[in-house]
Formats: sequence, structure tokens, C-alpha cells
Amino acid sequence: MVAPREAGYPSGVMQCPFCSVDETRVIDSRPVDSGTAIRRRRVCESCGLRFTTYERADVPLIVRKRDGHREPFDLDKVRVGLEHALADRPVDDKKRDRMVSAVRTAAEASGRVVSSDDIGRAVLEQLAAVDEVAYLRFASVYKEFEGTGDFERELAELQRRGDT
Ligand SMILES: [Zn+2]
Repeated sequence: MVAPREAGYPSGVMQCPFCSVDETRVIDSRPVDSGTAIRRRRVCESCGLRFTTYERADVPLIVRKRDGHREPFDLDKVRVGLEHALADRPVDDKKRDRMVSAVRTAAEASGRVVSSDDIGRAVLEQLAAVDEVAYLRFASVYKEFEGTGDFERELAELQRRGDT
């Protein structure tokens, strides 16, 4: 009987993605992304090829709301928010999907916990570059739900950007 893949392997052993032997060796290891991940350079003892692995905690991105409440990041909410803002605007689905991805990337860049304000700003950032009507729609919703001076600041920023 074959033992489960992980059983009996010293921690850190990883199969070579090129030739599938189990003898790969870590030749460099360093923290990246502000210490939230570890990057390892590995070399295969059999075929000699080198590759990189990343180790990071497998925890969901958490959104901190303005009232301090926390909830898991939900990409669908971003998508729905963008869909509403972009309704009847000349922006195709592909472009919208790229914006959703960009918002996720921006949210993930702030670490394990991101504020709802930062997500709203990331959405506004995307819309500002694409469609002014959609931007204002989203900004007004954002203002209603979050009630903040951030909206005025963002609008001023959009106008400043438009002037340059
Ligand atoms: Zn190999």
C-alpha cells in the first residue's frame, strides 16, 4: 500500500514540477510581501531545474466595515456594485471583469484585512479611469452607505485628474 503523499516526507519537501521526482532542495528562502509570505527557490536534485514556491497563510481576506464589523471579502459584491454603476454604459463585460480583478488585486495588496473604504476607493479608482457617469453613480451609493467626506475628496480628485 502506498502511503499518502505527505506521510513520511520531511516538511518542505516538494516534488519537481518538471520531472516529478521528490528530491528537490531549497537553495534560498526569504520573507516577501511584508512578511506575510515566504518565497523559496528550489532546485531539483535529479534534472537540475530551478523553480520558485510561495508559502502563505490560507485564510480568507477579511473586510473591516466602518462600524468595526468584519466579514469575509466577497468578490460578488464588487461585481454587483460595478454592474449597477455600469448599467447601460458603453463598457463591455470583459472590461468590467478586468475591473473586478483589479479591485481584488488592490484589496489583497493591503494584507489580510482590508477596510470597506479602501475597497470603495479601489472601485472608484477603476471607474474614474473608464466612465464618469458610472463613477458618479457608484460614488453616490458609496456616499449613502458609508457617509463620508471621502466622497467629496474622491470627486475633487477625479476633477483634478480630468484637468491634467
Ligand atoms: Zn526535476
